[in-house]
Amino acid sequence: MPAHRRLLFMRGSFKIFTWLGIPVYVHWTLVLLYLLGIMSGEGPSFWRLLEITGIIVVLFGCVLLHEYGHVLAARRYGIDTQDIILSPIGGVARMKHLPEKPIQELVVAIAGPLVNVLIAAGLYVAVRCIFSVDQQKLFHDYLRQHLKLDEAELVLYSGFTEFEQVALFYLAGVVSVNIVLTFFNLIPAFPMDGGRIFRALLAVRIGQLRATRAAVFLGQGIAALFVGISLWNSNISLAIIGLFIFILARVENRCVKLNAVLSRFKAADLVRSSFTRLFTGDWMQTPIYHIQEGAERHFLVFDAQDHLVGTLEEDCILKAFKSREYTAPVARYMRTQVQVVSAQAGLTHVYHLIRNQGVRLVAVAQRGELIGVIDEARLEQFLKKYI
Ligand SMILES: [Zn+2]
Repeated sequence: MPAHRRLLFMRGSFKIFTWLGIPVYVHWTLVLLYLLGIMSGEGPSFWRLLEITGIIVVLFGCVLLHEYGHVLAARRYGIDTQDIILSPIGGVARMKHLPEKPIQELVVAIAGPLVNVLIAAGLYVAVRCIFSVDQQKLFHDYLRQHLKLDEAELVLYSGFTEFEQVALFYLAGVVSVNIVLTFFNLIPAFPMDGGRIFRALLAVRIGQLRATRAAVFLGQGIAALFVGISLWNSNISLAIIGLFIFILARVENRCVKLNAVLSRFKAADLVRSSFTRLFTGDWMQTPIYHIQEGAERHFLVFDAQDHLVGTLEEDCILKAFKSREYTAPVARYMRTQVQVVSAQAGLTHVYHLIRNQGVRLVAVAQRGELIGVIDEARLEQFLKKYI
């Protein structure tokens, strides 16, 4: 997922390691699931601990490798990944931006499930090469059990050693996990990879925006179907997945609309040309007065020679107000960094500065001359008109 998509579950995640330059986070609810797994059944015991740890490590190991499939495919197109988060509802690789061309999105989306296909196929071939015909039959039995998705039970057959059977049972488990992950992710609904594949294929013909709308529509239809089936079967987990798909489909739609708007406009399109100029020697009571008056919250600061030297932000002004430093010079409270962008700069750049880098006020210049400012409120107002 791209960085600018706000994630519901980024908070409450902690880093477990970094691999190939990408930090991997785990959400606390996954730890909770793990603990619940250990406590369930006949209660905690050494074997239970070993089994649940094994299941979690294998399951989320496969999910993680799936995410790395996306990450490495994206890297080929110069798209970096910020981090990977594992949670009970799956993994998310947060990419710094979306692939631009449909063909790139297609490759990045397919790369994840492809990893699971390769794991399943690799293990399957290994079983066929290593084990005897009877052992393979047993493996197939276990595989069928696992794929029924009820909790598979290890039934010991005579004629095989216990070790053989345990090994085949768990091998079949790993193969089935990868088969299920492949099919689950290919459901054609956002945020599943199938939704992205569907959108990419459609985008080649009707363009990104319309393709997204169609994919979101299909995704929400499937989500509604999931919720319907779950009500019928009183299956809570299906309802949660349905709800999750429904919400993320909307987020995706907004995100694509936002990108479309951002790429259409320039800084010049929303620059505010009337703004208050503060000077380093001004008293703080001036900005305090302006803030109380209303419209402006952040200000550009100039020195005595009229050079732009910094910005004064709302929180600094409020600090001065609280400590009653009305006669302190603006120079004491200002920040000496100013972001100046060209009037011809794309709105995407301005958006990135304000939303991702926390810049409060951007100065806009044309041919070396200051023509106005853009602040968060201005950006918000502008985007509201189009999204
Ligand atoms: Zn995926």
